[in-house]
Amino acid sequence: MFASARIKLTIWYVLILMAISTFFSLAFYKASTLEVQRLLNRSQMEEQRQSLGVVPRRNRPIEFPSTEELKAITSRIKFNLLILNSIILCIGGGASYVLAGKTLRPIQEMVTEQQTFITNASHELRTPIATLRAEMESQLLEKKISDKQARSLITSNLEELGVLQQLTNDLLTLITIHHTDVQPMSGQFSIDETLEKIVDRAKTASRLKKIIMKLEAQPGLITGSKEQISQAISAIIDNAIKYSKSNAKISVMGNSQKKYYAIAVKDSGIGISEADLPYVFDRFYRASGARTKEGYGLGLSIAKSIIERHGGTLTVKSRLGKGSTFLIHLPLA
Ligand code: ADP
Repeated sequence: MFASARIKLTIWYVLILMAISTFFSLAFYKASTLEVQRLLNRSQMEEQRQSLGVVPRRNRPIEFPSTEELKAITSRIKFNLLILNSIILCIGGGASYVLAGKTLRPIQEMVTEQQTFITNASHELRTPIATLRAEMESQLLEKKISDKQARSLITSNLEELGVLQQLTNDLLTLITIHHTDVQPMSGQFSIDETLEKIVDRAKTASRLKKIIMKLEAQPGLITGSKEQISQAISAIIDNAIKYSKSNAKISVMGNSQKKYYAIAVKDSGIGISEADLPYVFDRFYRASGARTKEGYGLGLSIAKSIIERHGGTLTVKSRLGKGSTFLIHLPLA
């Protein structure tokens, strides 16, 4: 598809180039032939006047080129212009082909990225849908369903629907963040208070695993969307809980630096191997150790997009089996 688009674009570039080159060549040819014609007329008039004796014959006549010489000049100009245009066609054709490739490359990358995204999203959506269907079909085969069975079926279906809802929400967030130029809602908010709320909310999940959460946050003001920033930090803290064993410790530190507010989320969980580390922010990427936990590999890519859209950075340091530290830098208001 892109090969034929590249050829078509090249043809268009060459046509435009040749139209411009032909226009200027014709204009130049016209101007040159007019000049030659003017010289020819003057030479003929001078000859006539001298033969009629209107002007005395000079000892050294003014040297006008002969008609043949002038015709030769005209055809030389024509020939040179033809050569020049052929060279422009060859060099321009090659350059147009390269330029067409360069023009189409970002579009090609975007299409490939979207295709991968759609493939991955469909793949992830298929599992909960298939589970829902299988559960309902198996219950339909039963002649009688007790209240207890019906309840358990509905509960399980609701769980799968919850998964589907979360996934579609994540996909929508990702598309909105990635593919729109809408600036995040700007407004100042206190990042230390936001951190407190996020950690408080996360404590319900951490308590279930008997995880100790520690928060130390210096005051700081941030500009941007409080909801989006909260979503990004929550995803990182939720991961810290998800990928930690029971009785582990998680610390969240917030420091006001020169121009940035730095947030470090440190856990002593399963860690990330060196091989997986460069890809954890890619959409749908899940390290092999994470497959047993719930998730789709979208949380970190959403978090990174949000933070970068706010002019910040998100990085990670991790050692397999030792734990991970996610570091966020957000510009201070
Ligand atoms: P997921 O839904 O799989 O958690 P994320 O995008 O949030 O997706 O994370 C991508 C991957 O990065 C995870 O699958 C996991 O392998 C790894 N990861 C993220 N956070 C941690 C962490 N705190 N400890 C260990 N691995 C992590």
